[in-house]
Amino acid sequence: MVEDVPSVLQRAWAAGVTGIVIPGTDSDSSFSAVNIARLFPGVYPAVGIHPSEVEKLGEDADAEIRELAELSTVVAIGEVGLDYHYFEGLDAAGIERVKFAQKALFTDMIQIAQEVQKPLIIHSRDCFEDIYEHMAAQVPNHPAVIHCFTGSIEEAKQWLELGYLLSFTGVITYKKNEALREIVKHVPIEQMMIETDAPYLAPEGFRKESCEPKFVRNVAECVAEVKGVSLEEVIDITTETATSFFNIAL
Ligand SMILES: [Zn+2]
Repeated sequence: MVEDVPSVLQRAWAAGVTGIVIPGTDSDSSFSAVNIARLFPGVYPAVGIHPSEVEKLGEDADAEIRELAELSTVVAIGEVGLDYHYFEGLDAAGIERVKFAQKALFTDMIQIAQEVQKPLIIHSRDCFEDIYEHMAAQVPNHPAVIHCFTGSIEEAKQWLELGYLLSFTGVITYKKNEALREIVKHVPIEQMMIETDAPYLAPEGFRKESCEPKFVRNVAECVAEVKGVSLEEVIDITTETATSFFNIAL
């Protein structure tokens, strides 16, 4: 809720957060991200259309994102990508149609990122082979971060080989996610980012609460513990990675 923004930000700054990137998922939320960033220093907008929105798009959606993407305040294109998780009520032909539409939308979003020369924030869910093939062919040399990474170690390696970054959320703190913490252990800290994916995925111990940016500290603490390094080291390195990736000066 927009009226909550000042208090959400205040709690984030109090927790030691120094900058926040807020991505859009469609034209309206991208526009809101731009407006919130205008009002609150330390907040940086990303704009894009999420694959789950593909069925609801108005005709001008791409053009609206392109226009926003050109704003100097916008730091990235995202969330964009593919999501094959929910195909409820669709038959095989329907599923193929949605996959095709998602790929076309993703291609458009990639093109915008290339035109404005801004990095990509990638949403990838249950679609590794398709999205990997798509990106390896279209943007092997474009900066990209795979947000909320929850894949396998093989997938992690393949993304890193393409030069992309992996971003981890509160999901790594969940008790049952030992396998994901094992991946965190093996991903070089210089090739990772941390995030909350608020309002989803509050960390262990807070799962009944709405997730908000202050919880990125818990993600950092988990990374520090898993990798056996200090919290300061995690904070310093991931902040350096994020500021250089998004080209922002905190
Ligand atoms: Zn996402």
